[in-house]
Amino acid sequence: MAHFTCEVVYRGIFQKNLAARICRGIVLSARKAGRWGIAFGRYGDSPQRNGIPAKDFAIVADTQEELEQNMARYEPKEVDVTICVDDTLSKGVESWAWYGLQPINRLTVPNGTVLMTSLQSPADLLKDIHKKEAPYNLALIPAKASFSGLWVYKEDHTEARILGALAKIQPGFLSLDAVCAAIQEAEWGSELKAASARKAFERLESRPVKITEGNAETPFSFEKPKWWEMREGVSIPAIPIGKPMEGGKGYVPERNPYFKKFTTRTMRPVIDFDKCVKCTLCWLQCPDSCFDVTPDGLYDANMESCCGCGVCEAVCPAKDCVTMVREDAFEDNASQWEMWRRDKPAYMTWMGDKIASKQHVVRSHGFRFRGQYEEEIKQSLDQGGTEITAGIPGENAVGKQR
Ligand code: SF4
Ligand code: SF4
Repeated sequence: MAHFTCEVVYRGIFQKNLAARICRGIVLSARKAGRWGIAFGRYGDSPQRNGIPAKDFAIVADTQEELEQNMARYEPKEVDVTICVDDTLSKGVESWAWYGLQPINRLTVPNGTVLMTSLQSPADLLKDIHKKEAPYNLALIPAKASFSGLWVYKEDHTEARILGALAKIQPGFLSLDAVCAAIQEAEWGSELKAASARKAFERLESRPVKITEGNAETPFSFEKPKWWEMREGVSIPAIPIGKPMEGGKGYVPERNPYFKKFTTRTMRPVIDFDKCVKCTLCWLQCPDSCFDVTPDGLYDANMESCCGCGVCEAVCPAKDCVTMVREDAFEDNASQWEMWRRDKPAYMTWMGDKIASKQHVVRSHGFRFRGQYEEEIKQSLDQGGTEITAGIPGENAVGKQR
C-alpha cells in the first residue's frame, strides 16, 4: 500500500480555479491509472479574499481503504509535493486568521519536492524560501504567476503544465499518459493542453536544496490565545487610535497586530514623494490603514501591513507618483519615506531601478483595463508549454472556440 499527498498553495480569488483544476486533475489522473484520490480545500476563514494565501490538497492512494485512512484527519501534516503557483509566496504563507508565517516548504517531507511556477532562478528564490532542517528538491516551471481577476482563471496552460511536471516527480502514482488522458477529458482540457503537459514533463528541471541553503530568518509568529483565555462575547477588539509621529507632527495609525501581514501581497506600492500633491486620497482609501502621515505631510505606506491591493495606485491623481512593483524585487519592509528623507538622490536611483524593471505590467491583478488578460497571454512567452497563441487555450467545449 502506498499513497501520495500534495498541497497547492495559491492566492485567494485570483488562483482559486487554477488550484481546484490542479487538484481535480490529480485525482482524475489517478483514477485513470486505477488508483483512488480526493481533492479538498483548507483555510476556511475567508480564504478567497484578494491575494490571501490559501491551500488545496490532493491525496492519491493505491486502495480506497488507504485513501479513507488519510482522509480521517483535518489536513495533511506533511506532503510529498508542495505546489506553489505564485513565487511571491516563497516568502512564506500567512493566511487570514493564521497566527504567523508558515515557510512555503514547511509541510514538504524530507527529500520531497517544492514545485513552483517562476521566472526567477533557484538562487534568487532561495533568498526568500526559509531554510529547512531536511533536504528537499526545488523544481521550477518557467512561467509567471497565473493571475486574473476575481474568479476568472487565465487560460495559460498552467494547470496542464503542473500536472505534466507532477507525472515526472511522482511517476509511481501519476503516469504521463494518465495525466494527458485526464486533461483531454476535462471540461477545461484540450489536445493543446495535453501537449503542454508533455512538454512540461520533458523539460522539468529540479535541483536538490541542502539544509544549509535558504533564508535563515525565523518566520514571525503571533501569540496564540488558548481557548480558555478568550474573552466572552465580542472577541475582536477595535483597533486603538494611532499616535503622532515625530515631535507631535504626523500620524501613525494603529494596526491590528493579529490580522494579515505583508506576505499576502504580490505587489507593493513604490512612491515618488517628489510627485506627491498631498491630496490624502491614498490615506483615505487604503483598506488596511497602511499609510503613516509623515511630519512633512507626505504619506508613507507601512510595508508590514500593506496587502498589495493596488488601491493607492488606482486613486492617486498625480501621474507616476504611486507605482505597484512586483514583491520579489524587495528584500525588506523598510520605510520608503525614511530612505527618501535620508538621501534623496539615492532614493531616486533605487526607485527608478525598481520601477523600470518590476512594474505591475509584469505581474498584475488584471483589473487595469478591459481585455488585459487577453493581451497579457498574447505577450507572454510560453517557456515550456505549447505556444498558446497558436490557438485559444483549453476549452473542450465547442461553443468556446473562437
Ligand atoms: S497597496 Fe496601497 S491601498 Fe493597498 S494595502 Fe497597500 S498601501 Fe494600502
Ligand atoms: S494619493 Fe498620491 S498624491 Fe495623493 S497623497 Fe497619496 S501619494 Fe500623494
